[in-house]
Amino acid sequence: MTQELIELDACQRCGGAILDYLSPITDSPMCITCGWRRVIVPADVLAEVEAHLGKNFMEDRYTHKQIGTGKPPLSGWEREKRRRERVRREKEDQQLAVS
Ligand SMILES: [Zn+2]
Repeated sequence: MTQELIELDACQRCGGAILDYLSPITDSPMCITCGWRRVIVPADVLAEVEAHLGKNFMEDRYTHKQIGTGKPPLSGWEREKRRRERVRREKEDQQLAVS
C-alpha cells in the first residue's frame, strides 16, 4: 500500500483534487484533473519573507539592488515582488487577527 493523500478542491486552476504522494522522491503534489502542480516555496524564500517581516526597509533593499545594474527590473522580478508583497500582507493580517 502506497502512502497517498488526496486534497479535494485544492487545485488553484480547476478546483479539482490534488494528489500528494507524501514522498520526497516523487513529484510535487499534482491535480488529478488538469495536471496542475502545486509549487512548493523553497525554504530560503520563506526565510527571506520572514526576515522582511521584522523590518520596514523593502524600498531600501530595492534601491541597493538597482545600484550597479542600471537595468530596469525584469518582469519576472516584478511578479516576484508582487507575490512577496501579498505574502507579507497576509502575514500582517494574521498577526492583526491574533492581537
Ligand atoms: Zn486542476
